[in-house]
Amino acid sequence: MKKIIEQIKNSRNILILSHKNPDGDAVGSSLALALALKTLGKEVSCFSVSGIPEVFNFLPGVDFFRKGADFMNYDLVVLLDCATFSRTGIEDIQRVAASFDRLIIVDHHPKTEVEESAESEYWIDEKKSSTAVMIYELLIEMGVNISKDVATCLLTGIFTDTGGFQHSNTDESSMRAAAELMKKGPRIEKISRNMFSGKSVPAIKLWGKALSRIENSSNTGMAVSYVTMEDIEEAGAKEEDLSGLISVINTVSDAKFSLLLTEYDKNKIKGSLRSEDYKGMDVSRLARGLGGGGHKLASGFEMEGDIGRSIAKISNMVLRLKDKTNKEG
Ligand code: 5GP
Ligand code: MN
Repeated sequence: MKKIIEQIKNSRNILILSHKNPDGDAVGSSLALALALKTLGKEVSCFSVSGIPEVFNFLPGVDFFRKGADFMNYDLVVLLDCATFSRTGIEDIQRVAASFDRLIIVDHHPKTEVEESAESEYWIDEKKSSTAVMIYELLIEMGVNISKDVATCLLTGIFTDTGGFQHSNTDESSMRAAAELMKKGPRIEKISRNMFSGKSVPAIKLWGKALSRIENSSNTGMAVSYVTMEDIEEAGAKEEDLSGLISVINTVSDAKFSLLLTEYDKNKIKGSLRSEDYKGMDVSRLARGLGGGGHKLASGFEMEGDIGRSIAKISNMVLRLKDKTNKEG
């Protein structure tokens, strides 16, 4: 961590990047770091290729997210909640990345590929519940004052990635960090409403449609549903309204894991995978097999094709993986 702090201290213009389709941890960590570094006199920008979903408008400092970034005038790039530039979804990123001399990566995903630059420092720890708890520890180590605004952003990150302190990644250090952050005055019910419980009627109707389609196969152990572009349009909803739906699909207790396929563009599908500790399934293996990645109990991927064929393809892959595991084990 010392080297990371040194790099931050020696930089003036800092760009914070995270993964596309940003979640509460990606946005919360980015804004908390941006707000804290601003108080140290740094120039800071955040950028997300897919823009910032409206649900994050309640977060202090959301204006740090620039609509366009030229990626050229920064002396430090910080990559949060992911470890490769390709996860940012920025087209042509490899070309602009050539100008990133100094790079810091803070991430809590299992270490697979890690980006490097002339002077890169990374802190990757898959045992951490969230990137936000890591940024909290970093700011404490730096001796930076944690304001109510910074606390709100960090608590949002911890709260989202632990599913409101319900997932198995909820550990003592996250609870302790959350307790310390609560002392600064953030409002947990406001975070909870914006992240999980506040929904529009079109969103709930869309969830209803997807939930009514759940299929649970004892063969694959998969509870699966899907949403098409047409469904979203018919409901008068937005794609971001689907955030959180996979957690409900994942409540099927006799499934080994759950899958939600979302058609976000013609023939382009995003998949979300979830499982639970007690179900004994590592969904990140399946996600990696499909070109994606993530955590053991929460992963994702993107694929091309139509929904029906994709479900068939994934089911076959699950059966093959099951077969392989049985043979190995
Ligand atoms: P979600 O289902 O909420 O989009 O993603 C769940 C988890 O999987 C997150 O930790 C996210 O970072 C990871 N993830 C989602 N989509 C992808 C992907 O396309 N590639 C990789 N490597 N990880 C993904
Ligand atoms: Mn995260």
